[in-house]
Amino acid sequence: SAQIIDGKAFAANLKQDIAKQVAILKEKHNITPGLAVVIVGEDPASQIYVRNKNKSTVEAGMNSFEHVLPEDTSEADLLALVEQLNNDPAINGILVQLPLPKHINESAVIDAINPAKDVDGFHVINSGLLATGGDAIVPCTPLGCLLMLRDRLGDMSGLDAVVVGRSNIVGKPMAQLLLNENCTVTIAHSRTRDLPGVVGRADIVVAAVGRAELVKGDWIKQGATVIDVGINRIATDDGKSRIVGDVEFAAAAERAGAITPVPGGVGPMTIACLLKNTVTATCRQAGVKEPQA
Ligand code: NAD
Repeated sequence: SAQIIDGKAFAANLKQDIAKQVAILKEKHNITPGLAVVIVGEDPASQIYVRNKNKSTVEAGMNSFEHVLPEDTSEADLLALVEQLNNDPAINGILVQLPLPKHINESAVIDAINPAKDVDGFHVINSGLLATGGDAIVPCTPLGCLLMLRDRLGDMSGLDAVVVGRSNIVGKPMAQLLLNENCTVTIAHSRTRDLPGVVGRADIVVAAVGRAELVKGDWIKQGATVIDVGINRIATDDGKSRIVGDVEFAAAAERAGAITPVPGGVGPMTIACLLKNTVTATCRQAGVKEPQA
């Protein structure tokens, strides 16, 4: 049965490397990377994410600046804060936690972030650079998936990869990254005919749908590498709940060569990649080479 890819351990290693890079930046260049995280409103899941991001940033030796704004913050006020952060030399990365309250236009806010400081990689400049092979800042979740795939597979040239889901945040950038690795990439989505057949041909399956166990274990090709991005809370018989992915884990693990668990797979890698992007952004802004950890 499959190797279980330990995203938690992988992320812990990556965070150690990043802390070393940060130490070198301080020592050699007198630079301390600064990450600003902006949250609007009281969404409990978002608050937990922001707290974890803040903690990890400080643990890596970077400066963390948290901006907690009330739910009724106007779009103009949020845009003014983004502009202030764009112009602040102590800030190298800006992350606006999504979703934003409904009265604020998300894409207007993302477009206002200086692309060089857009550590989420959601700005159209960064998605455009990714699509055209430039020096993009790559969205954290797909970047984490890529690092785990590279570690497992090395050269992915010519492999058949399927990405299930076509969101701007996960599915589309993931497909671009796999294309850059010279995979033959299929993007499947809600209108795809014969999803089992499409998944069944793939050497690499990345599931980013947001539907509990949508991808069945017996669809998976023998030996395939399965990356499960989904985070779905489902009710259990005892009246409690638990988190499951988009893949039917136990059955898929019978056939896959390697698979990420949920939780403990892609999730921890996402925050580690946010820190990685912050170091990358800092080095590019300062015109220094990214230190080797
Ligand atoms: P999204 O809702 O924006 O996109 C979902 C995609 O799935 C859509 O493109 C849609 O076409 C496709 N889809 C919907 N139903 C389908 C079906 N029946 N068959 C095939 N495709 C279908 O979601 P997202 O932001 O890309 O997130 C996807 C999942 O990943 C969610 O569970 C989310 O919580 C999780 N996620 C996890 C992390 C992490 O750090 N681990 C980060 C981001 C998102």
